[in-house]
Amino acid sequence: MMTSVADVIALDRAHVWHPFTQAMTAPDPLVIERGEGVSLFDAQGNEWLDLVSSWWVNLHGHGHPAIAAAIAEQAKTLEHVIFAQITHRPAAELSAKLVAALPDGLERVFFSDNGSTAIEVALKAALQMRRNQGQDQRTRFLAFEGGYHGDTVGAMSTGVSSGFFNAWKEMLFPVDVLGLPTTWIGDEAQQAKEEAALAALDRHLDAYAGQTIAAIIEPLVQGASGMRMHSARFLKAAAERIRAAGVLVIFDEVMTGFGRTGALFACQEVGFTPDFICLSKGLTGGFLPMALTITTAEIYQAFLDPSIEKAFLHGHSYTANPLGCAAALASLEITLSESCHAQRQAIEAGHRAALADLASLPMVAETRVQGTIGALTIRQGEQGNGEGYGSPLGPQLSASFRAAGLLLRPLGNVVYLLPPYCITPAQLARGWDGVRAALLALR
Ligand SMILES: *Cc1c(COP(=O)(O)O)cnc(C)c1O
Repeated sequence: MMTSVADVIALDRAHVWHPFTQAMTAPDPLVIERGEGVSLFDAQGNEWLDLVSSWWVNLHGHGHPAIAAAIAEQAKTLEHVIFAQITHRPAAELSAKLVAALPDGLERVFFSDNGSTAIEVALKAALQMRRNQGQDQRTRFLAFEGGYHGDTVGAMSTGVSSGFFNAWKEMLFPVDVLGLPTTWIGDEAQQAKEEAALAALDRHLDAYAGQTIAAIIEPLVQGASGMRMHSARFLKAAAERIRAAGVLVIFDEVMTGFGRTGALFACQEVGFTPDFICLSKGLTGGFLPMALTITTAEIYQAFLDPSIEKAFLHGHSYTANPLGCAAALASLEITLSESCHAQRQAIEAGHRAALADLASLPMVAETRVQGTIGALTIRQGEQGNGEGYGSPLGPQLSASFRAAGLLLRPLGNVVYLLPPYCITPAQLARGWDGVRAALLALR
């Protein structure tokens, strides 16, 4: 007999510990049974529009038949194998295809399991590269205000300014954090902010570049800290200065990769090729956990030596899982298609039209769009409403979205849509109409 919905919730309540959730005050979880395209269906048969792509991982819709078939086929052939001194066709093919799709220079692929591990790999490889080269005076990392890079210790350390990690501050290593000139549609102070930020960066590099291993940044869009955006022009100028000062550049494209920002990768939009690019969320189309840290020949060569100590002695049990590789290959083929590109352009046009309209509402402070990501910031209320992640606006907005069958998760006072690429114009409009209704219902 199938477990009833009430039983699923009771079992969950009794045994499951959910991420980012205060179980004492959280409502009962939604029981989702099935997904198809942008839609999720709960156990009662209600439809939900997944407008956050299930935490930014889904690219082409739930249950995409080509990706599902690729995984099923691979599972019948080889589900997994140890990846030290062993390889397999899906991993080799995926590496080659991604390297071909990335800017020239990014050509060596290291596999891991999730966005956080992709970041740890980049940080550890950057540090060890400098050790291998005898540059022991380099001990510092540079990050940007509001950056979020994941929940493991190195990722938390470099993402300290996102403000999510106060509970663990004793275990974090120190990181230099510089300001980031975030901007929005109609921002008149943009140029002045960018010039000031570049001047501050220059001063920092003058003082510390010789001691710095690497700088890490979420290019174009900082996801977790509220879909905060900065210009490609600023980032290109900043990254070029960092490189010229002898510091490695890590682009955390865990969220921005695979078309989210319009181009295939944000680095292409910026016109700067980093020393490391970290990819995860969209990599398998949202089907399986997998991540990649991709770097240059120069960095790889710094690990080649007769001695084992200079090798990168890092790995995870499920490194290069063949099922994940098969899903990633199938997803990449769709992502590279002309029709997917057209879908992404249509989403951006839809965001721009909807946000141009919403910008005139009195409670909307800022609107911004980068590719398939559209966001607005709600003006802070008299009582300091709308501050941070635990904003009191959250529960009010969530109630409106739930009632409208929209899966949306505001980040503090920021409401954003980051939909799967297969969303139709009508579904996208339904999403933004729901946002408008929720804003008008705010008290
Ligand atoms: C989500 C995210 C991470 C962490 O990825 P996980 O898979 O959750 O560990 C790192 N960087 C960015 C930019 C992210 O959005």
